[in-house]
Amino acid sequence: MPRAPIRELPDELISQIAAGEVVERPASVVRELVDNALDAGAGQITVRLQAGGVRLISVEDDGCGILRSELPTALKRHATSKIASLSDLESVQTMGFRGEALAAICSIAEVSVLTRVAHGGDPHGWLLDGRSGELQPTARNPGTTVEVRELFFATPARRKFLKTDATELAHCIEAVRRHALARPDVGFAIWHDGKLVAQWRAASGSGMEALRQRLGDVLGTEFLDQALPLDWPALPARDDHPQRLRVWGFAGLPDAARSRNDWQFVYVNGRYVRDKTITHAARSAYEDVLHGHRQPVYALFVSIDPARVDVNVHPTKIEVRFRDGREVHQGVRHAVEAALAAPRSAQAQPATPPATTALSAEPSAFASPVQRQQALPWRPEAPQVGQRVNDVGALWGNEPEKASINTARTGAWLDRQDAAPSAMPEVTRTPSAAEAQPLPDGEWPLGRAVAQLQGVYILAENAQGLVVVDMHAAHERIVYERLKQQLDDQHISSQPLLIPATFAATPEEVATAEAGAEVLATLGLEVVPFSPRTLAVRAVPTTLAQGDPVELARSVLAEMAQHEASTVVQRARNELLATMACHGAVRANRRLTLEEMNGLLRQMEHTERSDQCNHGRPTWRQLTLKELDALFLRGR
Ligand code: ADP
Ligand code: MG
Repeated sequence: MPRAPIRELPDELISQIAAGEVVERPASVVRELVDNALDAGAGQITVRLQAGGVRLISVEDDGCGILRSELPTALKRHATSKIASLSDLESVQTMGFRGEALAAICSIAEVSVLTRVAHGGDPHGWLLDGRSGELQPTARNPGTTVEVRELFFATPARRKFLKTDATELAHCIEAVRRHALARPDVGFAIWHDGKLVAQWRAASGSGMEALRQRLGDVLGTEFLDQALPLDWPALPARDDHPQRLRVWGFAGLPDAARSRNDWQFVYVNGRYVRDKTITHAARSAYEDVLHGHRQPVYALFVSIDPARVDVNVHPTKIEVRFRDGREVHQGVRHAVEAALAAPRSAQAQPATPPATTALSAEPSAFASPVQRQQALPWRPEAPQVGQRVNDVGALWGNEPEKASINTARTGAWLDRQDAAPSAMPEVTRTPSAAEAQPLPDGEWPLGRAVAQLQGVYILAENAQGLVVVDMHAAHERIVYERLKQQLDDQHISSQPLLIPATFAATPEEVATAEAGAEVLATLGLEVVPFSPRTLAVRAVPTTLAQGDPVELARSVLAEMAQHEASTVVQRARNELLATMACHGAVRANRRLTLEEMNGLLRQMEHTERSDQCNHGRPTWRQLTLKELDALFLRGR
């Protein structure tokens, strides 16, 4: 290849390259413009979008404005009013400081800025056309409006990566939501195609009270019903730094956990970040109360001496680097642990229900929502609409396999089971009559259930010895395989709910449900808008009829929002079905009757790939008599 000459790139191209890092989609622009509005001291920020933000993004604020003389400079690369020196950079308190957002956006879209300074400027505003550089006097109250039209018009390759308008809108709303949680003192409004899609008024109080109000507005009062306040002065105050590290916010109770990590909001000095140290610390605080891959929900605010954190490590500043990661890890972990500890001890009183009432048993590790609310002095309200108090009912009652469980052979001892004395605290014992039954060798490879251990494992006896089954993992796999089979046969069979389950939905959930009605139907779900902020689940897959319809709908919508509606089933089929299966599967800490346990074993025997759960872990293990003998040093 002939050697090409080295040359300096034109300014425009440099900006376009920089834009590639900063602007991935409309939501990135929204984030940068809202950053700027907050840095300008705005009290009210209005975001207007058209076509998911691709056609238009306009962010209006009532902040300090920009002087006419500085207006053209604001659009230049590396031009900022926020830092002037390296030491400024090291202690930066503003959201922005790199001075490249407006320049980058200008290089890939049509930008105009309308602004008027609050103090000491002209008695009117100025409108700057980013392309021509033309300045015109215009009427305006103090503040700034930045309009961004036809994003990526000059870089069509980038434009092709965009998803549907509904998806891009959802990302834009999410971007504002992240800001809104950090700044309850600022009012926000979002309009899309002329309709108001979200509005959060400035909170009246301050600190925890303001945050509580904003969290309720943005995430719904259900979040607050299931969340614990936390505030942790992790390190003793010192004279030079009054408080080096503080962690505060709200952490959700274990059973408010979700299948996705989309409700994990982490802020460092008011900036939304994604930080492995903090998520790991939070996750480890949940370690012994959260089973499997459930994702805790929380809004955590870490306040730290700015000199102990570097915010200049990522072009969009979504990542930070701590000088001492361990100190942050410990602080977050302790803060969350302390919050979780209080209600857990308060929940300790309800005794594990006896095995004979297993079908109506509440998961024993966590108190019911009612008990929980009593434990929390600040939450007097009744459960929300759509919030299920418990998942009463046979777990796989309406599934065809059930009939075959009650064979003549099992029938006798299954019937007698009800009359058995109440169970020992940890292990459900088989009545002695069962022990007299011959083992149905060969027919039942996974054997006959004899007990349930700690609400997690099923113990079964087969010809080789002992079988131990992880019941949640196994059931999840069965449900997953069944859904897959049904989807391969064209559609997942669906069952209408007698009473539709309504729930307070976010605008993006409503948008996704509207746009994806067909996809939902293929998945056996019917989720329809009930009001602009409410969705109603009218039908669920027959296989999942016993689960929580609201939680199911929410996770499916969250999954769908990640993909283009028309191709979601082809592209994300397995993820979608796994999400659904997780909700249909029996939870750990659920007491099962022997009949249910045997039912599960028989289903496993008939389900492909049932030896592994959907996450690749084994669902059961065999301990042979030989291995057992070896454990007890018993020579044979
Ligand atoms: P940065 O925010 O990193 O400084 P930007 O390119 O985002 O860089 O903005 C450049 C400058 O334009 C800012 O430093 C600020 O002085 C000014 N500016 C941008 N948006 C606004 C706004 N909404 N209100 C007041 N000034 C603004
Ligand atoms: Mg900026």
